[in-house]
Amino acid sequence: MKEKVKIVILGGGYAGLLTAVTLQNKVHAKRADITLINKQDYHYLTTKIHESAAGALNPELIHLPISDLIDTERIHLVKDVVLKIDLMKKEVILKKCSERYDYLVAAIGGAPRTFNIPGLKENGHFIFDFEGTERLREQIKNQFIKYNADQDESRLTFVIGGAGFTGIEFLFEFLEQIPKMCKKYGIEEEKVKVICAESATTLLNGYDSRMAQDAWKSMQKLKCKVLGGLAISSCSKKEVLFSDGKTVKTNTIIWAGGIKGNPILENLGFPMLDGRVIVNEYLEVEGHKEIYILGDASVIFSPEGEPYPPSAQIALQQGQYCGKNIALKVYGQPIKPFNYIYRGAVMSLGRKNATGVVYGNYINGKLASFIKYVIEMRYYYMLGGLRMLAKEMKRERLIIKNHSKDTIPKN
Ligand SMILES: Cc1cc2nc3c(=O)[nH]c(=O)nc-3n(C[C@H](O)[C@H](O)[C@H](O)COP(=O)(O)OP(=O)(O)OC[C@H]3O[C@@H](n4cnc5c(N)ncnc54)[C@H](O)[C@@H]3O)c2cc1C
Repeated sequence: MKEKVKIVILGGGYAGLLTAVTLQNKVHAKRADITLINKQDYHYLTTKIHESAAGALNPELIHLPISDLIDTERIHLVKDVVLKIDLMKKEVILKKCSERYDYLVAAIGGAPRTFNIPGLKENGHFIFDFEGTERLREQIKNQFIKYNADQDESRLTFVIGGAGFTGIEFLFEFLEQIPKMCKKYGIEEEKVKVICAESATTLLNGYDSRMAQDAWKSMQKLKCKVLGGLAISSCSKKEVLFSDGKTVKTNTIIWAGGIKGNPILENLGFPMLDGRVIVNEYLEVEGHKEIYILGDASVIFSPEGEPYPPSAQIALQQGQYCGKNIALKVYGQPIKPFNYIYRGAVMSLGRKNATGVVYGNYINGKLASFIKYVIEMRYYYMLGGLRMLAKEMKRERLIIKNHSKDTIPKN
């Protein structure tokens, strides 16, 4: 009888979770022990965290216990923080213990890219993970409440750094919530100022130009200042300094300036690009066929040699591929290279508007918004078929019925 293979997956985000559920279906329990390690015992829908940050979505809707999504009889779930990887011992060092591996899947996401802007790390709010966006929502709410007590106008000035995909999606959600917040706290809407600064002079580089045009047109109608070609040079708790030398007083700096790789994977001698590990066509690290790096922690290249921007779409396809690939290796079968299929991108421009290109077809408005919803629902199907989809839709209905869809209490 063959010895059991020990498979360790780091990260319960899109890539890690898809690897886990694929493996649980493809490898018999007699052949492998599978461990999934994640900082939290819940999974969150990263593609929607900007909505809950803005108060547009009840956070419960994007917060899912991992044990509801995997077969805990098959997968050993460990809630712990990964500290480092010991390549020699084939061991992962966690805060509370360590785990030996035969195959390691590092799907631990990235980290916010701050470009070493002084004061940003300490004072910025990052649209990056669930906990951070929870803090941001509280911060925004508190500014409205505290303004009523001290009339400090800088409380109602919000600066967003970065008008990329995430920055734009957040901007629209946030601006839609402002009238509701003002009504709730009895503040005139004109008092609230939102400034979005983007160092580039063009929007959404790397995406279809029609998406950028739609976003730009819709932004013209918004009650906010969008400053193109202007970078944030530094910030403190109370002020932002821009690259043109001007300052703005604010208590809330929201950073959406992109992500870099995960620091845990630095200094392991792996080939890197912007802190992300360059993997081969099998998503393995060159020279370490037992180590896969997936999702935002890694980088893959288009046939033209351009690095693909990190996305959930890549992470999900990689997770499924990696699960299948390890299963093939366990059973001694030949493996095939990873073939990324780009299906398009849809960007929300508020609750009922979006823009995107799907399978080469340009869509916008309510249709695009609906397609985005379908893409989100498809994720549940990928995780656990129709049963998971029905379960999650039911859960969603219950949360909305018992609480509310957003987090701004009605008057
Ligand atoms: C607001 C927003 C909107 C987006 N919209 C889209 C979109 O519409 N379409 C799209 O394709 N992409 C979108 N993206 C990008 C997409 O969400 C990411 O590319 C995707 O989440 C990457 O998946 P991942 O599994 O690599 O990492 P993640 O989803 O970040 O998961 C990483 C997991 O690892 C855990 N972890 C990290 N470090 C440790 C550690 N040291 N120890 C233990 N656990 C750890 C984390 O807690 C997390 O659970 C969006 C991103 C954001 C922020």
